[in-house]
Amino acid sequence: MVDTVLPNPPRTRSQFATPTLDTINVTALKGVGNQFAEKLAKLGLHTLQDIVFHLPLRYMDRTRVSPIGSLGPNHHVVIEGEIKACQVVFGKRRSLLCRLQDGTGTISLRFFHFSAAQKQGLQPGTHLRCFGETRRGASGLEIYHPEYESLSKNTNSKKMALTQCLTPVYPATEGLTQQRMRSLAQQVLDLLDENSLHELLPSALGQSFHQGPLVESLRYLHAPPQDAPINQLLEGEHPHQQRLAFEELLAHHLSLLNVRRRTQAQGAFHLPTHHALREKFLAGLGFELTGAQDKVSREIAADLAKPVPMLRLVQGDVGSGKTVVAALAALQAIANGKQAAVMAPTEILAEQHRLNFTQWFEPLGIEVAWLTGKLKGQAREKQLQAIQSGDARLVVGTHALFQQGVEFADLGLTIIDEQHRFGVHQRLSLREKGEESSLSLHPHQLTLTATPIPRTLAMSAYADLDCSIIDELPPGRTPVSTVVIANERREQVVERVNVACESGRQAYWVCTLIEESEALEAQAAEATAEELKLALPGIRVGLIHGRLKPKDKEAMMLAFKQHQLDLLVATTVIEVGVDVPNASLMIIENPERLGLAQLHQLRGRVGRGSAASHCVLLYNSPLSKAGKERLNAMRETNDGFKIAEIDLRLRGPGEVLGTRQTGDMQFKIADIVRDAHLLPQIKPCAQILLNDHATLSQQLVRRWLGYNENYANV
Ligand code: ADP
Ligand code: MG
Repeated sequence: MVDTVLPNPPRTRSQFATPTLDTINVTALKGVGNQFAEKLAKLGLHTLQDIVFHLPLRYMDRTRVSPIGSLGPNHHVVIEGEIKACQVVFGKRRSLLCRLQDGTGTISLRFFHFSAAQKQGLQPGTHLRCFGETRRGASGLEIYHPEYESLSKNTNSKKMALTQCLTPVYPATEGLTQQRMRSLAQQVLDLLDENSLHELLPSALGQSFHQGPLVESLRYLHAPPQDAPINQLLEGEHPHQQRLAFEELLAHHLSLLNVRRRTQAQGAFHLPTHHALREKFLAGLGFELTGAQDKVSREIAADLAKPVPMLRLVQGDVGSGKTVVAALAALQAIANGKQAAVMAPTEILAEQHRLNFTQWFEPLGIEVAWLTGKLKGQAREKQLQAIQSGDARLVVGTHALFQQGVEFADLGLTIIDEQHRFGVHQRLSLREKGEESSLSLHPHQLTLTATPIPRTLAMSAYADLDCSIIDELPPGRTPVSTVVIANERREQVVERVNVACESGRQAYWVCTLIEESEALEAQAAEATAEELKLALPGIRVGLIHGRLKPKDKEAMMLAFKQHQLDLLVATTVIEVGVDVPNASLMIIENPERLGLAQLHQLRGRVGRGSAASHCVLLYNSPLSKAGKERLNAMRETNDGFKIAEIDLRLRGPGEVLGTRQTGDMQFKIADIVRDAHLLPQIKPCAQILLNDHATLSQQLVRRWLGYNENYANV
């Protein structure tokens, strides 16, 4: 049973005296007026509970003076010593450099901004106490702009007094100083106890999952004692942090399960398999389904035949043949008199789907409509009309499909390709769009992704979906062999392109840039195309980038597909969907700038035919250590799942899911990679909570995810 409203926590007599922190507005704190409260609101801090869950990112140790000789880089430390030298130096920037020495070693203090008086106060012989972050500088270990105080003069000053506890550093935000944040946290800690902040993990559960008291953990983390293991805290591996991480991951998991339950509480169309039409479609394909395609397609078929909305994610490496599987699903909906919609993340991919689906469906008498943002005027009207009247049974497009003004006559299934481009928020809003368009019954939803999602991430970010995996490539593919070559050997690479093209094969040359600027990327590609035309006079060179008109892009792709071009210079716009089996060589420039998933996608454009295929990663030296590690991973494996695991470890979940900007999967304290070991316990725990403690489960979601109604409503 799931409640529909948020009930108040159970109250006992004694609790009337202590309102819970989640019911007290931040304005109750000293020094918080309306204006300041607005600033806090922007950070999602509305109540005292929010403040106490706004946890420090790291800590500084101002509890003791560290011996200079014991320091390494990136330590926040208090040190004391005598100034041995002080002079203005002229490097890249003029600065004041002081050498400070204690009995154990020497360190430099560097000031880029300083006054004459300041310089005067830092003369040799002066004894100082300083606080700051160490770093490797031009003169060895240095501290830039330390806080400092002369010990010789005012020995009683409190400015730099040592503290009892480690000093918390909160997530930085504009217009909110650490000082202020610490004072707010301190005020809330004074009110914090079991009555003002309830334990939401049922005690039985808490024990079986080794959870200590919440209040104790929070107190510890806002003000760790002097002897706290600071390195463990910095790593986020302290038991008190892990206890909170567990609760947070649990809350996220619950929120997605809530969403799933909410969707599945609605009815959906019963769309059984139409065997005759399915056979007819398969007979026209010209190839047999792989075992994996067949298996996944049957899982989908079974979902569609149930009167609850399908929520299924199909993962399959590039080239594993997801499109056919999607087409079979669409066919099943259409055979039952419903419309199906296929949404792609880019115009090029949408275009490719349109061609495929038209070729497959028109012989069966099924009309395919087409809608992207770039379609305007009468052409657009015509498509909208076909969608609304129901003449169009299948609709292919970009996200323009789900914008205002698009009305489906009878939508029974939405298919979203390349899911990883859409974050959780977008996924939910799409589902809502579906809810609007079909009154009481929900369309089924199928999502496809070519970026395999590491298991740990799938468990947390996709807990609202069922998963199918196409773990087999169509027969006749040869694995792509990958080499990593420095740009100094560019000429050899150009020669290699020459040889491949002369022998009748085709090649891609992909230009990448750091900035996601289509204009700059286009410029780089244009320049490279010119360079290659000069270097390879016998080779027919084409150019494709995001700034071309759709018509020209299409013409260019077609020319390449029909082998009127040998070499296609491209930006990353060709990342998805493009399918030219005769292309067997790909050069990727500056691969160190891309994520592994994206490189893997790009590389998947070759190796689609029977010829042995190669990928050259042409990097700009020198390569960083992480860069080397990443490119080596590309060389060593063609397995998208392995690559995804490495990407997750190296770049974090936001990048891997492509949702960094939307703020999906941003945790206050948990870290999916670090805390992956907690996930196996979270699933069963979530089930128990959802089944037996619906109210607590709701409060948990609100505590950790706030009032985002997408997640919190059940
Ligand atoms: P992706 O999973 O990357 O979307 P596609 O659906 O684009 O892959 O399929 C890649 C290519 O493989 C297409 O040319 C498609 O027609 C072909 N293909 C798909 N399934 C099979 C199969 N079972 N046997 C042979 N070729 C197939
Ligand atoms: Mg595809």
